[in-house]
Amino acid sequence: MSYEIVIGLETHTELHTRSKVFCRCDAGFGGEPNSHVCPVCLGLPGTLPVLNRRSLELALLTALALECEIPARFQFDRKNYYYPDLPKNYQISQEYQPLGRNGRLLLVMPDGREKSVRIHNVHLEEDAGKLLHEGGGALVDLNRAGTSLLEIVSYPDIASLAELDVYMATMRQLLRYVGASDCKMQEGSLRFEVNISLRPAGATQLGTKVELKNIGSMKAAMRAAGYEIERQREALEAGREIVQETRLWDEERGVTAPMRSKEGAKDYRYFPEPDLVPVEVDAAWLEALRRSLPEPATARRRRFVAQYGLPDYDAGVLTADRQVADWFEAAVAGRTDQAKTISNWVMTHILKELPGEDDRIEDLKVKPEHLAQLAELVSSGAISGNQAKEVLLLVIESGQPPAEIVEARGMKQLSDASLLEKFVEDVIAANPKQVEQYRAGKEAVLGYLVGQVMKASKGQANPKLVNELLRSRL
Ligand SMILES: [Zn+2]
Repeated sequence: MSYEIVIGLETHTELHTRSKVFCRCDAGFGGEPNSHVCPVCLGLPGTLPVLNRRSLELALLTALALECEIPARFQFDRKNYYYPDLPKNYQISQEYQPLGRNGRLLLVMPDGREKSVRIHNVHLEEDAGKLLHEGGGALVDLNRAGTSLLEIVSYPDIASLAELDVYMATMRQLLRYVGASDCKMQEGSLRFEVNISLRPAGATQLGTKVELKNIGSMKAAMRAAGYEIERQREALEAGREIVQETRLWDEERGVTAPMRSKEGAKDYRYFPEPDLVPVEVDAAWLEALRRSLPEPATARRRRFVAQYGLPDYDAGVLTADRQVADWFEAAVAGRTDQAKTISNWVMTHILKELPGEDDRIEDLKVKPEHLAQLAELVSSGAISGNQAKEVLLLVIESGQPPAEIVEARGMKQLSDASLLEKFVEDVIAANPKQVEQYRAGKEAVLGYLVGQVMKASKGQANPKLVNELLRSRL
């Protein structure tokens, strides 16, 4: 029997705010354990939470970018459960009136096919702390407790591993475009939980779903989902029943293992959070947020082609990540005549420096103004294109401005005709056969002769000038 794959995702992302969602503690990653805490996020009796305006803004921006309906009024709910990393014994979340509903995320598959995945809801909640298992015991670090966590729940519309892959990449791109999160999976600011079930092809009823947790990267999500699909297929084919449960992905062993049977909503005894008033969204404020949304990646890609005359391929690579696109536009800084040169440098040399999912272009030593300066050095004839490549590699390594490198290494391009003439004469004298061929009408030989002059000048000669000098001599 053949089976259909049905996948839904929960995306958890830590919002990029300075302070936590209901108190003023530092929301930054790391720090001495239990140093970013106060009576509110420690859940001490008598304290009251106050909603962080920036958390709400980022949550609403994300919901708007996902084309959600935003209710005029929503509230927070209390999700009750006990766990050592949750000092209050409940989590403030949104169950009954989330801030966003009925949205969608548009996927563009590698073959150009479009697929719309419906978003069930977007809700804001507080994150829990961390348990560190050490020396046979467990330590609790509550620095993360109370940081802003946004959860985006999709409908089970994803029908293949390829779509899962594109969904995760597109969601990450959207969150980074909106500025909602830095999406560093290593630091846990972006986490995916994947729900998977199989059903006989053509069936209308959904199969029993299994939820996968402990997924540390998109690559791990793909491996875990691949494993789980095969596990369920084998079980169904052997006539065994799938148990509704949460399973943990074991990255080292490459398997999923049962963690607990999945709770239903009733197990959490949700009720409206009595310590927070409902939020009424001012229509003018929401409209201002909507207008402040950045240009979406697909629109930006089209603009890069029109404005900078870039091939669609370049535009796609450069706009895949908003920070890369911003970086590129800062480097070009209006000089559209330099766009293709800068695009080539970014695609060939800069992006190579960002191999990991969490690597960010703004962390590199090379800055956009360096590329602008380098392009200027080439277009003014101060250095050749070959020298520019050499300089760029040094800038990437050291962060030193190109002009300083050129100066320090005496790399100035030879543009003085009287100095170049000597090289030209030597090359003409040393290559009588090629000179003969050129004079007999074989134009292509000129390239060879230019190359010889470049070699003799150790790459410093201005190739345009060499070209002119050779032509006039020959
Ligand atoms: Zn606090």
